[in-house]
Amino acid sequence: MENLIIIGAGFTAATLTRFLNEKDPLIIDKGRGAGGRCSSRRVEDIGVFDHGLQYVSSKNNDFIEFLKDGLKENLLSWNGEFYNEKNELNKSEKFIGKNGNNEFVKKILKSKNQLYKTQVEKLIFKNNHWQVILNSNKSIDTKKVIVTIPEEQCYDLLKDVYDIDYKNQTMSNLTLMVAIKNNINTFSGKKIKEKEDVISWIANENSKNRDVNNSSLGLYTVQSTEKFAEKNCPQYYSNKEIIKKEMLKRFLNILHIENPEVKYCSIHSWRLAYKKNNFSNKVIWDQKKGLGICGDWISGPKLENSWENSKKFSDIYNNS
Ligand SMILES: Cc1cc2nc3c(=O)[nH]c(=O)nc-3n(C[C@H](O)[C@H](O)[C@H](O)COP(=O)(O)OP(=O)(O)OC[C@H]3O[C@@H](n4cnc5c(N)ncnc54)[C@H](O)[C@@H]3O)c2cc1C
Repeated sequence: MENLIIIGAGFTAATLTRFLNEKDPLIIDKGRGAGGRCSSRRVEDIGVFDHGLQYVSSKNNDFIEFLKDGLKENLLSWNGEFYNEKNELNKSEKFIGKNGNNEFVKKILKSKNQLYKTQVEKLIFKNNHWQVILNSNKSIDTKKVIVTIPEEQCYDLLKDVYDIDYKNQTMSNLTLMVAIKNNINTFSGKKIKEKEDVISWIANENSKNRDVNNSSLGLYTVQSTEKFAEKNCPQYYSNKEIIKKEMLKRFLNILHIENPEVKYCSIHSWRLAYKKNNFSNKVIWDQKKGLGICGDWISGPKLENSWENSKKFSDIYNNS
């Protein structure tokens, strides 16, 4: 019997492994490795695309100190030019991971017990412990379980065993990753300010100065507007090539790139990207059942929200 299982290996889980008074909980994630939405795609001979979280900025010194302590020399300052929804330039200091933004999780997550490519299908409460049913048709028993997955998935997993006040308001996002021969730009991040239906911003990966990036290529991570994602995410798997072409065409048009030699082009769909409103602001720790619920979506759309909720959760858990 395990003592504690944490479902999900994103930043919430990583932060919990630093704050909880528990050694080596078993971390289970359906993905290939730790990262979750702090994800970086590394393409051989091309470079790294941060196709999830773009950068971290915060006015909370404790949070930044936590990142500095966890990432050490791998936490780099980045000069990205980003504008907020009122078209004001975000002047606060921005941070990225030296080799990719998945380092926000990989460098912080601390547990010798990690199980990947394993989806938790169901949780069954057995009076004094949990039976965790996996997609491999196996199951693991544990005294306590903490769920750190996005709200909709959390609701689906727990609806038979726990009442969650579910709001279903997670935004979607489509992210295009493009490499173009001999197209080196100097801007770092571009929020598309003019009226635009398809693209909301473009990050220039070359501006992150990563050794692994191929210096003869212009590398861009391009994020869709919420409107475009809302329309296209439901048909993503049947329409993937058409959606990709439409985003690529619009991107080339915005940057005025003619006759491009496209060396790499791929798209990723984030059906559950982030939540923008209707926050409960309440982490859940049911000591009687040994069930915890934590994640960014409890209080906001950003990494900082994952951190603050994990910290809040750990205070309650450690004192219970
Ligand atoms: C496109 C995009 C851009 C973003 N940009 C920024 C930004 O610039 N700045 C910022 O601060 N934040 C940004 N965010 C938000 C930030 O990435 C999140 O707040 C943070 O990563 C959430 O971490 P988490 O651990 O709570 O959730 P997640 O990272 O989603 O981790 C949950 C994990 O659970 C796993 N999982 C789900 N269901 C199961 C299951 N049944 N069984 C096993 N495993 C399961 C998933 O594979 C995932 O790894 C962005 C997010 C997206 C999608």
